[in-house]
Amino acid sequence: MPAVAAPGNCSLGAGTCLGFTHKLSPGPMPKIRIHTKCVTEPIKQEHDGLRLAVTRYLPRGVRRSRYHAWLPNLAPSETLLHRFQAGKVSWAQFSKSYQVELFESAAVDDDNPRIKNHGQKFTLRLIKELAAHQPVTLLCSCGAGEMHCHRHVLKKLLESSKV
Ligand SMILES: [Zn+2]
Repeated sequence: MPAVAAPGNCSLGAGTCLGFTHKLSPGPMPKIRIHTKCVTEPIKQEHDGLRLAVTRYLPRGVRRSRYHAWLPNLAPSETLLHRFQAGKVSWAQFSKSYQVELFESAAVDDDNPRIKNHGQKFTLRLIKELAAHQPVTLLCSCGAGEMHCHRHVLKKLLESSKV
């Protein structure tokens, strides 16, 4: 991660600069805090921090006030989801294919030979950066004890060096 500006050298000037970007000095990445939850579990604002719904479909009957943002682009594709739900792919295959999808290019990338922008890597990097400054909670509609939910795969991916 490149350094942005040395403290005191920010172009925004003292009093305007938000400050936290100065922590981007070369060195180890601050510890990131990423949690996962079922979207209907009790909200604990201090623990949860930024609540991101990462579902392909908006959970039915779930109020907008239960999450800060909905990012369907970070969910498995409808095709993959349906294949897993129908038992046509194993959990291991599902989690592997899901991660491949997150970095996949698409037709729009043919117009962008220098920076491929369809894959979700930039969104993932942003979430990782946010999680270094505040807790981030990834929400899905799968139940609280459901281990075969993509939110756990997404958390692991964000915590890895792949992002
Ligand atoms: Zn889920």
